[in-house]
Parts: sequence; structure tokens; C-alpha cells
Amino acid sequence: MKIINLLKSEKLSLSFEVFPPKTDSAFDSVKTATEEIAKLKPSFMSVTYGAGGGTSKYTLDIAKNIKQMYGVPTLAHLTCVSSTKETVLERIEDIKNSGVKNIMALRGDLTPELENSDRSLWHYRNAVDLVRELKEINPDFCIGGACYPEIHPESSNQKEDIKYLKEKVDAGCDFLTTQMFFDNNLLYNFLYKIREAGITVPVIAGIMPITNANQVERAIKMSGSHMPQRFKSLVDKFGSNPDAMKQAGIAYATDQIIDLFANNVTNVHVYSMNKPVVAEKIQSNLSDILGL
Ligand code: FAD
Repeated sequence: MKIINLLKSEKLSLSFEVFPPKTDSAFDSVKTATEEIAKLKPSFMSVTYGAGGGTSKYTLDIAKNIKQMYGVPTLAHLTCVSSTKETVLERIEDIKNSGVKNIMALRGDLTPELENSDRSLWHYRNAVDLVRELKEINPDFCIGGACYPEIHPESSNQKEDIKYLKEKVDAGCDFLTTQMFFDNNLLYNFLYKIREAGITVPVIAGIMPITNANQVERAIKMSGSHMPQRFKSLVDKFGSNPDAMKQAGIAYATDQIIDLFANNVTNVHVYSMNKPVVAEKIQSNLSDILGL
């Protein structure tokens, strides 16, 4: 099932993200966690690609397993910046052979070594290069791209970021998924601007439930997201009580999703981070809205 076909409905589409194990010994526990999430029968599940490609073989193993065992459509992430053309072509061939049709085409983060290396030697400088390659190899792939309501950290301004985003979409992205954000107004603003710039593909809103106080710093560092005062107060109040923080973080994410849907954002992707309990709680909080 192509993900683009799931995104056109007026109903709320709720999908979950998982990540592959970093080591062989963690494979079984990660597989079990992803299966628990798949049993919830979300619209689709995405499986991330380890930075630098370190866990690349497991991305596809997990994606294939979810699809075959539970019939849940899967989206396999693929990054390119730190890989040779040969490696990326091998991965694309593996994806083609696995029957997974949906690919999230990403550049990947720049390591300090990459930042200091000669960019003219890179085969893939940006995600747009990967999108073009994927479309050339198989026009039937359904391709997703990343977007940033609060600007990608390397961009100097939003106008430039949106100009490159349009180039990426025109190269063949069927849909976009946003970086996490904690203030819905930032998304509404962003959507207005990209629509005005002529980007018309569906945009899936990425929601990260913060379920422990330690996650906060990491999440901000990773995404550069703005923390609204309402969210800061919640962390201040409940951060030292793990159960209360988990409950409050799930409630905050649920609230964000309800507000998004009420404002006609129908596609929401939850960064569920291999946590079946979090995925289950959010889904059950929305059961009537989802029509379950
Ligand atoms: P790009 O689209 O290439 O954009 C990166 C920067 O380059 C932006 O500032 C953009 O404005 C600029 N730019 C784009 N095109 C051009 C151009 N032609 N010329 C000059 N500048 C340009 N990382 C992983 O390692 N594994 C994952 O599985 C993963 N999944 C992700 C999923 C989502 C939804 C998101 C939002 C991010 C994910 N990331 C993942 C992180 C991602 O790899 C980083 O955010 C990375 O820094 C940028 O990737 P991109 O695909 O957005 O890059």
C-alpha cells in the first residue's frame, strides 16, 4: 500500500515511528516492541535509518516484518550524505526486492568529519539528490521528505529553506513529514507559507510525546524546537515524578493532535520511539475521534 493513498482521507490518520536496534543483541527486544505497536494497526509505521547507515540492514528487516506479520504499511527511511553511490544503490535494490514501496528520502545529519570535508566530492549533497535517484530507478516508489516548521538548523532563513523544500518536492516527493514541534501555531504558519510557495503535497505533522524530563534537552538539541511556556510549566511541575511526567507528556501530545485535527490537519505521525505503551495510550485517548 502506498502511503500517499492513505493521506487523502478526511479522517484522522495516525501513524507511528520506530527505530532499528543499534546492536545484534538488541534485535529481538526491538522487534518485539515494534510488533506490539503494529498490533495497534496504525495507518502506517515508519522505521528510521541509523545515522551514518550503521543499522541499515535492520531498518528493512523490521519494516518487512511489520508489513508481513501485521499487514501494516511501512515506510523505510534512507539517508545518503555519508554513503557512497554504490552503497545507496545497494540499499535501494534491497528495498525494491523486499516489496517495501514507501521510502523516506533523507540527507542525514552532518558529522564533524563531513562538515570539514570537501563537499564537491560528495555524490549526495542534499536529500533532493536521493529523491531524483529514487524516482529514476523506480518511478513507482512512494517518496516522503522531511520538512521543518521551525527552519532546518543549517538554514539561514525560512524563505531559503522553503525554496529548497519546493525543489525537493518537485524532484518527486509525494508527501512531507515535519520535524517535531510543540506549538501548533508554528505548524499552521508554516503550512500557510509553503502552500503560498506552491507546495501542495500532503504534510504529515510529527508529534513527539515527551514522557520523561531527560528527553526534553535531547529533543530540543536535536530539533531546535521552541518549547512553549505551557509545556515548560508541565516539565517543571512533573519532571521529577516519572509516572506523572509520562501521563502529562502523553496528555500534551494528545491535546496537540486534537487541536491539529480540529484545524483540518488530518495526518499525524507520532514519534513513538519503540514505546508500545505510549503509542497505545495516545491511540486510546483518540479512540472516538479515530472511530475505533
Ligand atoms: P535536506 O532536504 O537536504 O536539507 C538539509 C539542509 O540543506 C536544509 O537547511 C536545506 O534548506 C538545505 N538544502 C536543501 N537542498 C539544498 C540545495 N539544493 N542546495 C543547498 N542547500 C540545500 N536522520 C537519520 O539519520 N535517520 C532517519 O531515519 C531520519 N529520519 C528523519 C525523519 C524526519 C521526519 C525528519 C524531520 C528528520 C529525520 N532525520 C533522520 C534527520 C535528518 O537527516 C536531518 O534533519 C538532516 O540534517 C537533514 O535531512 P533532510 O533530508 O531534511 O535534508
